[in-house]
Amino acid sequence: MLKIHNSMTGEKEPIRPLQPGKLRMYVCGVTVYDYIHLGHARMLTVFDLVRRYLRDSGFEVTYVRNITDIDDKIIERAAANGEDWTALARRFAAAMHEDCAALRLEPPDLEPRATEYIDAIVAMIGVLIAKGYAYLADDGDVLYSVRRFAEYGRLSGKRIEDLRAGARVQVDAAKRDPLDFVLWKAAKPGEPSWPSPWGAGRPGWHIECSAMSTALLGDHFDLHGGGMDLKFPHHENEIAQSCAACGTPFVNVWMHNGFVRINDEKMSKSLGNFFTVRDVLATLRDPEVLRYFLISSHYRGPINYSEAQLAQADETLLGLYRALEGAPSGGQADPAARARLCEAMDDDFNTPVALAVLQGVARELNTAKAEGRTAAAATQAASLRELGGMLGLLQQDPAAFLKRGAGAQVLDDAAIEALIGARREARARKDYAEGDRIRDRLAAAGVVIEDKPGGATAWRRA
Ligand SMILES: [Zn+2]
Repeated sequence: MLKIHNSMTGEKEPIRPLQPGKLRMYVCGVTVYDYIHLGHARMLTVFDLVRRYLRDSGFEVTYVRNITDIDDKIIERAAANGEDWTALARRFAAAMHEDCAALRLEPPDLEPRATEYIDAIVAMIGVLIAKGYAYLADDGDVLYSVRRFAEYGRLSGKRIEDLRAGARVQVDAAKRDPLDFVLWKAAKPGEPSWPSPWGAGRPGWHIECSAMSTALLGDHFDLHGGGMDLKFPHHENEIAQSCAACGTPFVNVWMHNGFVRINDEKMSKSLGNFFTVRDVLATLRDPEVLRYFLISSHYRGPINYSEAQLAQADETLLGLYRALEGAPSGGQADPAARARLCEAMDDDFNTPVALAVLQGVARELNTAKAEGRTAAAATQAASLRELGGMLGLLQQDPAAFLKRGAGAQVLDDAAIEALIGARREARARKDYAEGDRIRDRLAAAGVVIEDKPGGATAWRRA
């Protein structure tokens, strides 16, 4: 039976659907103001895997993952680019979809955008005010009154008194309590806004997820996921909003994936070790290598990214495809192998063990091939395909996969154009170090670029 570590209780619990045979899950998606990075890729891949495995386990899954398409960062970036904010958000949402497709992630069943749910957001804020959980502050913002929600801090294991003591010296006089957070931001001149009973404004980030998840999955649903960094305050605030507004429990199981670290350091733009997904994909034989790497560690722990780790993932994946190459077809997968994989995955999605099961099957397949045992080889090959498919791996033609060179050769025209676009973005926001890094990466792939007057960039293969 599938057990999932519930961040709310700190324990692995058997999954108990609210409706028999059905699971409703919501995952906090991306704020679309830039290309997605490795941290996003991990979150997206982890929950793609969770969704696939829940479905393979026989549940009818509804997977909702939102897009935050209105946010301070979007407004700031658009202003810096001299670009319309809606155009910028659309552009980076499209880029995110391209990257997800490259990683062979299945699209969520529903992908709400915050700006499409303003009515639901305004309605929920209205309920919170009516119930006394929110108030209109002197500066025109609507704030959530944290002290009204007794269970605040339960998910992150924080005590309200400690949080309050740790809160910065209050500069925002409009707040009745330093922990209060914004539900509706009063419009500032020149910023996008929508009408509301409290004046023109725009939603805070936290209320979006409460309103969209409730609108699409109901007041109380099975599973909510996101990156570890969202546990506090974002998810804590979602719970406070939804439980108060709906008067029901919100979510049964909370799942949080760990961070991506780079060469054992935190990934950050200021440290210059920041990788977008398209940058990384441009260096790989195939995007499947990144997927393999991302699921090679258990989702709850940190994962350390380095070129050596990626090379290791590449080598292991090559080994699995070599085992499949030339293997006889037409076999029936071995139920015992599937049972071993399910045993690992049922244990809170233990992918390192699941991948070890795959490697064991590949070893048996190699032996059967070497010894000319055709029927056994066909069985193992079918197993390897089936189990790989459950993890989103090994679905390509082995010969085609093995023919592909690592690195430069896979930089097709579209990848080159994408990198040049990313460099243009970086330079537009005056991030010249990032721009130079992308130029070096192109050079390493044998692509020479030349900046033309007027901002265009020409390129040719050396
Ligand atoms: Zn969220």
